[in-house]
Amino acid sequence: MSSLHLEQALIGGRIVADVAVTVEAGTIASVAIGGLPAPDAVRVAGLTLPGLPNLHSHAFQRGMAGLSETRGASDDSFWTWREVMYRFLDKLSPDDVAAIAAQAYAEMLETGFTGVCEFHYLHHDVDGGRYADIAAMASAIAQAAHETGIGLTLLPVFYRFGGFGQLAPSHGQRRFINDPDSFARLVEGSRKAVSSVAGAVVGIAPHSLRAVGAADLEQVRRLAGGAPIHIHIAEQEKEVADCLAWSGQRPVEWLFDHADVDRQWCLIHATHLTLAERDAIAASGAVAGLCPVTEASLGDGIFDGVAFHEGGGVLGVGTDSNIQVGAASELRQLEYSQRLRDRRRARLAPVGGSVGLSLYQATLDGGARASGRAVGAIAPGCGADLVTLDLDHPALVARSGAALLDSAIFAATEMPVREVRVAGQRVVEAGRHVHGDVIRQRFSSVMRRVLG
Ligand SMILES: [Zn+2]
Repeated sequence: MSSLHLEQALIGGRIVADVAVTVEAGTIASVAIGGLPAPDAVRVAGLTLPGLPNLHSHAFQRGMAGLSETRGASDDSFWTWREVMYRFLDKLSPDDVAAIAAQAYAEMLETGFTGVCEFHYLHHDVDGGRYADIAAMASAIAQAAHETGIGLTLLPVFYRFGGFGQLAPSHGQRRFINDPDSFARLVEGSRKAVSSVAGAVVGIAPHSLRAVGAADLEQVRRLAGGAPIHIHIAEQEKEVADCLAWSGQRPVEWLFDHADVDRQWCLIHATHLTLAERDAIAASGAVAGLCPVTEASLGDGIFDGVAFHEGGGVLGVGTDSNIQVGAASELRQLEYSQRLRDRRRARLAPVGGSVGLSLYQATLDGGARASGRAVGAIAPGCGADLVTLDLDHPALVARSGAALLDSAIFAATEMPVREVRVAGQRVVEAGRHVHGDVIRQRFSSVMRRVLG
């Protein structure tokens, strides 16, 4: 058992001072507000927040960030970006993926995320054949999580077809493809792979309606047990048009007609919705998994965050393509997308409320639900995943209360993180990951080889 004395902390939606926390086996055992520090307590100066869960990542894509910013002859879109991504992953081995993922996860930890939901679809060898261990790539992800200490929800992805109507996969998709039987083995292998990662959860992710047959969906869903189910949905207008041509229904409409969507589900992007679809997601308890920086990068569109949030919908944020990594970037982009659309300020907050506090609390709750892990609050029974901000940072100096969160999100490039604990273990000190140098050197040598 260890004891912490937090100078300030976000608890129950409020910022309070002098918080005594005890941690037992990585989990918060007790919280007491007010009072003097116990003699054996570690004093934690600054504002300590529950760490934000990153609910959507493709870690290997960190290695191709910035490499798809040249304008092509035709309209550039998600679909042209996807061709660049397919060429990049052509060469990656499990060791390469472990190195790139460790760099991405260290950056997440340094910028406010303490957990990641890894939507993991790069499974097979470069020729599309299976590795001797079908979960070799899942083990690479687990290794990166273990090395960096980030909390892990591993979501092995079921990917079978190249498009709606059970189209054959393309050459670029050969490393992703499974049938239901091989996918069941992959899920089993993934469960073994994460056994070295404390508190890890294995859910499942049908990739998207275009990549999964209607008959497969229920079969793979059963493999989840009670763990999270994530799916990409309604990200692109072309995807909506293709789904309509295939089924006569829009993607979210089709999903709600063919699956019992509830709080176990996380619908990634959900950008293009009718009002009925938007309200159905909100009423279901499913999390809208928003990736505002990637959605802006790919020109996807703007999620209707204001009406969804005010209608009781649950939302969280993810870094998706990892073109940039940071909790503040995602939260800021989410709020600014609503402002640009509405030509108004302060959108994702109740009247009189702080946007920073409202956004942070909402995405903590949604991220925790999507992760399937007991995290997202400084409360007994929750993992001791704690992010402490540096109150001497120029963006935070002389602030108090909710203005600290507003300034951390809107006035600093990234959250001014000083130290981070995951399951009570310190993984970031003085703003840097404790193994940051080793992780960065290995990442650099992999990138020189892959891109050289
Ligand atoms: Zn994605």
